[in-house]
Amino acid sequence: MKLMFLGPPGAGKGTQAVRVATGYGLLHISTGDMLREQIKNDTALGQRAKAYIDAGGLVPDDVIIGMVRERIAQPDAADGFILDGFPRTLEQARALEAIAQLDAVFNIDVPEDALIRRISGRRVCRDCGAVHQVAELGGKDICPKCAGAMYVRDDDNVQTVRERLAVYRRQTQPLIEYYAQRGILHHMNGSETIADTNAQIAAVLDRMQ
Ligand code: AMP
Repeated sequence: MKLMFLGPPGAGKGTQAVRVATGYGLLHISTGDMLREQIKNDTALGQRAKAYIDAGGLVPDDVIIGMVRERIAQPDAADGFILDGFPRTLEQARALEAIAQLDAVFNIDVPEDALIRRISGRRVCRDCGAVHQVAELGGKDICPKCAGAMYVRDDDNVQTVRERLAVYRRQTQPLIEYYAQRGILHHMNGSETIADTNAQIAAVLDRMQ
């Protein structure tokens, strides 16, 4: 299966993608994680991407499309994958269509005030990349999975989040219509608990198999 998770920042795309990838044995491809890895390793691509990410904008299409094309061509992607955070523009969606046919797109919807609340409380593990809400950490900035140090993403401050939401509305939201026209779009209510949203997605996937 080739799946894609669509939705504004903070909707829970990454959280759901990790769960579904584990449950269905699919490769999880997060362009945000790939870019953060490039930044951590101080590569030329990472240096180029950082300024866009820190400003809340999108990394140029040609850079992202090249990165995803290379990743999808790896042998571990042959049996299926979940795209998380890609495509984010119509140009990316058209480029993807030329290299892979998606079976389903899950649009995870959450009202904007809840998104800002969630992103403000988000903490990420420096070692394993797990994402948690600060309220779940019991006052300690330590990963419950691997005991790594939890940190706040540079682009998770309120000002950058507002820009990311504006960019989402302008450049990514048109993809909802794009995939609806192709008959592969599924709307998920992302305001529920992680488990409830996951169950909605699983119900669709189980019908597809
Ligand atoms: P994410 O972790 O998905 O929230 O992505 C973090 C940031 O990485 C975004 O705000 C963008 O600056 C950049 N990014 C991730 N995926 C893409 C993409 N498909 N196209 C352009 N920029 C991206």
